[in-house]
Amino acid sequence: MQLKFVFGAGALAGVCAAGTMALAQGPAPRPIFDPNAPPQTTRFEPMVVREVKPGLYMLVGDGGNAVFRVAQDGVILVDAKLTGDNYYRELMRAIRTVSDKPIKFVFVTHVHNDHSGNTPQFKAAGVPLIASDDYKALVQTYTVRPGQERSPAPTISFAKSYTVMLKGATATAYAVHPAHTASDSIVYFPDLKTVAMGDTMFPGAPTVDWLNGGRLLGMQTNWAELEKMDFDTLIPGHGGAPISRAEFEVTRKKLDVLIERLRLLVKAGTPKGELLAKVKVDDLGQGWSIATQGDEWTRPARLDGLYAELSQ
Ligand SMILES: [Zn+2]
Repeated sequence: MQLKFVFGAGALAGVCAAGTMALAQGPAPRPIFDPNAPPQTTRFEPMVVREVKPGLYMLVGDGGNAVFRVAQDGVILVDAKLTGDNYYRELMRAIRTVSDKPIKFVFVTHVHNDHSGNTPQFKAAGVPLIASDDYKALVQTYTVRPGQERSPAPTISFAKSYTVMLKGATATAYAVHPAHTASDSIVYFPDLKTVAMGDTMFPGAPTVDWLNGGRLLGMQTNWAELEKMDFDTLIPGHGGAPISRAEFEVTRKKLDVLIERLRLLVKAGTPKGELLAKVKVDDLGQGWSIATQGDEWTRPARLDGLYAELSQ
C-alpha cells in the first residue's frame, strides 16, 4: 500500500514566511542551494558509494554515513551529510552515479549536523523529512557546533515507527531509547534484512552525547532489543563498512563487559576523573580505548553524564 501524506502546506507556509521576512528586512536571502557557489570548507572530500545489498547503498565520506535505497519509482535517503552546499552537491552527485530517480523521502536518524545537514535543501524541494517526535523536540534546542546551522523540524514525525513504501522497496523507521542522543531512530529495510543505524552503531565502542540526552544504558537496551529483529547487516553511522550480525553479537557482548566494568569501578568509589583511565579495555580490541576516543567520552560534561548513569 502506498502511504499517503499531507505534506507541503506547512513547509511551504514556513518558507514563504521566512522569505517575506527577509525581503522586508532588505538583504536577499541566500539561495538554499547555489550550484555555482565555491566550496565552503577545506574539509570537503569526495564521497564514496558502496553497495551493501542490491539496490541499497551506503555513502561514505565527510560527515556521517548516509544510506540510500533505490526503488522503481524513486529513492529513499537516510541522513544527509554535513551541512553545506558543497556537501549537498556532492551528496546528489554520488546518488546520481547510481540512479536518476527522484528523492522521495529523507529519514533523519538524529540531530547532529553530520547527519541532519542539508535537510533544509530537501525540505525546500518538497521532499518529506521523517524523524521521531523526540527529534522534533530536540532539534529546536540541541547544541549546534560552531559554524553549522540548526537543522529544521521534520515534515513528518512519529512516536514509535513510520513506514514508507515505494515500488519494490519498503523502509520502516523506529524510534529507539535515548542512546547516542535523545533523538535517535533507526531505519529498517525488511526485504534486505538490513538496518541503517545512524550513530546508534559505530565500529567499536559506541559514542554517547550526554549533553544532548544520550544514554549509554539506552544504547545497551537498544542493542538488546535489536536482537529480536530479523536482520543480517547493520550500517553504522561512521566507518567505511557494514557490520554483520555475527560482528554485532561480538560488539554487544563487549559493551556489556565495558558497562559492567565501569559500574564496578563507580561502585568501588573510583573518582570520576580516574574512571576512564582505570577501566580495562585493552582486551576489547581496536576502537574500544574510550579514554582516547576523541572528546566523545572525555569531555568533562559528558563524563558527568556517564558517571551519573552508572551511579544509579
Ligand atoms: Zn551523531
